Amino acid sequence: MKMLLGGKGANLAEMTNIGLPVPPGFTITTEMCTYFRLHGGRYPAGFRKNVLAALRRVEQRTKKRFGDSKKPLLVSVRSGAPASMPGMMDTILNLGLNDATVKGLIAATGNERFAYDSYRRLVQMYGDVVLGLKPASENDRDPFELIIERKKSERGIRSDTELTADDLRDLVRLFQSEIRGRLGVEFPQDPHDQLWGAIDAVFRSWMNERAIAYRKLNQIPEHWGTAVNVQAMVFGNMGDNSGTGVAFTRNPATGENHFYGEFLMNAQGEDVVAGIRTPIDISTMVELFPKNYNQLLKVRSKLERHYRDMQDFEFTIEQGKLYMLQTRNGKRTGIAALRIAVEMVGEKLIKPAQAVTRVEPEQLNQLLRPVFDSEEKERALREGRLLAKGLNAGPGAATGKAVFSASEAEEWKRRGDQVILVRMETSPEDIKGMDAAEGILTARGGMTSHAALVARQMGKVCIAGCGALEIDYNAHQMRVNGLVVKQGDYLSIDGTTGEVILGRLQTKPSDIVRALVTKELDPDASPVVGMFRKLMEWADRYRTLKVRTNADQPDQSEVAIAFGAEGIGLCRTEHMFFGGDRIDAVREMILAEDQAGRRRALDKLLPMQREDFAGIFRVMKERPVTIRTLDPPLHEFLPHEEREIRDLADKIGKPVERVTQRIRQLKEFNPMLGNRGCRLGIVFPEITEMQARAIFEAACQVRRERIDVHLEVMIPLVGFVTELRVQERIVRRVAEEVFHQSGIRVPYLVGTMIELPRAAVTADEIGGVAEFFSFGTNDLTQTTLGLSRDDAGSFLPLYLEHGILERDPFQTIDMRGVGALMKLAVEKGRSVKAGLKIGICGEHGGDPKSVEFCSELGVDYVSCSPYRVPIARLAAAQAALKRRSARKPAGKKS
Ligand code: ADP
Ligand code: MG
Ligand code: MG
Repeated sequence: MKMLLGGKGANLAEMTNIGLPVPPGFTITTEMCTYFRLHGGRYPAGFRKNVLAALRRVEQRTKKRFGDSKKPLLVSVRSGAPASMPGMMDTILNLGLNDATVKGLIAATGNERFAYDSYRRLVQMYGDVVLGLKPASENDRDPFELIIERKKSERGIRSDTELTADDLRDLVRLFQSEIRGRLGVEFPQDPHDQLWGAIDAVFRSWMNERAIAYRKLNQIPEHWGTAVNVQAMVFGNMGDNSGTGVAFTRNPATGENHFYGEFLMNAQGEDVVAGIRTPIDISTMVELFPKNYNQLLKVRSKLERHYRDMQDFEFTIEQGKLYMLQTRNGKRTGIAALRIAVEMVGEKLIKPAQAVTRVEPEQLNQLLRPVFDSEEKERALREGRLLAKGLNAGPGAATGKAVFSASEAEEWKRRGDQVILVRMETSPEDIKGMDAAEGILTARGGMTSHAALVARQMGKVCIAGCGALEIDYNAHQMRVNGLVVKQGDYLSIDGTTGEVILGRLQTKPSDIVRALVTKELDPDASPVVGMFRKLMEWADRYRTLKVRTNADQPDQSEVAIAFGAEGIGLCRTEHMFFGGDRIDAVREMILAEDQAGRRRALDKLLPMQREDFAGIFRVMKERPVTIRTLDPPLHEFLPHEEREIRDLADKIGKPVERVTQRIRQLKEFNPMLGNRGCRLGIVFPEITEMQARAIFEAACQVRRERIDVHLEVMIPLVGFVTELRVQERIVRRVAEEVFHQSGIRVPYLVGTMIELPRAAVTADEIGGVAEFFSFGTNDLTQTTLGLSRDDAGSFLPLYLEHGILERDPFQTIDMRGVGALMKLAVEKGRSVKAGLKIGICGEHGGDPKSVEFCSELGVDYVSCSPYRVPIARLAAAQAALKRRSARKPAGKKS
């Protein structure tokens, strides 16, 4: 129904059907919009006749005639698309008024002021929307508002309501002559010309810039089109017993179950929303309009019982009589969505399965992030302390002193400072500094840049790609829009909005984090926590996908478990290489000239890695843990600045030239496609050996503590089954050695990542060896699209802007390309091993659309950063419910 009639039209019809007072009218379908668009603004034969016939019926219902000079019918022409696009398209009120009918309206109502107010509104709206009399430029004012203002100052009055009938009649004349003067056309006196002009304009507004931009942002297809609603006018501007309002059946900000809304006396149309006059709180209507207020309360519960969701509705009171003009499902914040969903189950309005679909997975973010004190933030913005805006890559709020290097971040943190790490971009070397920082701010990089990715995994606030920052590392400062921010100056960053604010704003962790993670809040004491748990419990009831986490430290793992992770899908061993002094040993290993030298350095690393793994096993217990062997190219671990190189040479007792030379040797033209992944372990088998030893020794050690271990060793970047075989053999040999030495066996699997197209295409061969697959969707996207994630910043935004790509493929899986390879790999893998365990561990694992795709593919689990675990759980439940309802269509309602 909505597709054809648009949301507004369908709901007007539905409200009429359930007995609510809706002014009579009719709806022209969205199909006509498409016809109009494809036929250069023409209509099919017979259409005009149909519209006139429908208009005739409205005349009969209202006992008024369109264009009649005694009892004129006035109508509104309203746009209404299948999806709500608030304010994006046009609506025109009071059509049918002209110099003659306005007299009839005066005679019929005895209210001259009202009649001229309606007339001047019509000329104003028609002039703007249909005839296109708009401000000349962005800096100009609206020409009609200017005329009104001139009038008011002439008369020495402030408010619109003080304008007399004479003033308003004068305005009608002034508006008309402005149109004549500026556009050289007349305001049409023929009501039918007005009507068709308005209908055309609404259809044309589907293609206006605002609407196009909104559709792009909200992924609404152009071919939907808008419907047009023609409806008899009712008048909220007929005096102090009239008015117009907007209301929500529950509070859209908090979700609280109370009536919420605003009302303006003696007003029409958009006056409430436009903010020209300050409306009153709807509760004050109890005294002013007791009868209508009671009616509204009844409407409120009737709407909720019918739609079984929170409604946002528009109404008008004409001389004490209530009319409903619109209703729709109300937009709401994350917290409101949660509260309304859970409470409506309690009120038996909906079932848990419906509640699960009522919260957008992404909205959960708002519940998990630390928050700025809202009053303080508003003050800061008023004081002009907003420095710049970047990408809201890691939601939440953070405040601290600006530092411009990772080592300073660590140092300052050690001294007890809170810091914001500001970098051009981040690299794996910066991990510790990022960990020390409250938030991360980068000048370059996108939503899936290193900074963004790691920040989300760590649960850090992050703004990436903030182009306005001119960072000067040497001077330890940056320039932002002419202002200089020095090291140590306070910055506050809002990763939910991307705003960078100068100065210090108070933040606090969300209730849910304080209850579930830091455990400083009694979960039973916080209603939000209770509701969050309930919703998650329902979600878990329906989902078929398992949800794991990407974590490489015990504390991250603990957070993930608190959020419901059922295992680790990806433990990146390279991040551990940066902790403490281990980077020195890593570098020594890389710079060694022969195998013996490498082994010496690896021996130093072994106990440290073992401890890391043991720590994770202890936290994860019986849950599966997938550990990936070393993946990144070695040069990422080496220093690049001269001073650092000299320090390193000193430390390992080698001449600077030798070290420099080795670094040069390791440099690759295209490291992403160079010596990395399993290739490293093939060239330097002793690395895989050491890692396997650390993993199995840790597993045996923890097993001895009577803790269950479920271990999965994962080999990265495999393209040939033979590569996997070579690595698998090392892992199994070391495992047997360790088991033999320790006298304990732990069960384990050896599997591989599927992250190269060749691996997907030959998944039947690889599946003969691998005991599980895990899609590395980041690399699989890079290699399938031939697109480097780290270099995509210079063209990808343009691709999205021009619609060449619909979505960022690093955020949502490119289903037709990458997804087709995944499908192939699932089929081929399971053709040789029925029930082969398959997961995905790219960042996509926390993206709701990608989760839905994975659920359809039939993979066993997704894995994502700890703070996205609840999001993935909810998305997985929604995907399962969607499949279920597709299987057995409910046959009721849209
Ligand atoms: P939008 O889609 O921008 O909300 P609407 O079509 O809802 O536009 O129209 C805007 C406002 O105009 C409505 O909120 C209502 O107050 C007023 N309006 C529209 N149609 C009528 C009508 N038939 N009688 C009285 N007011 C109307
Ligand atoms: Mg509206
Ligand atoms: Mg990879």
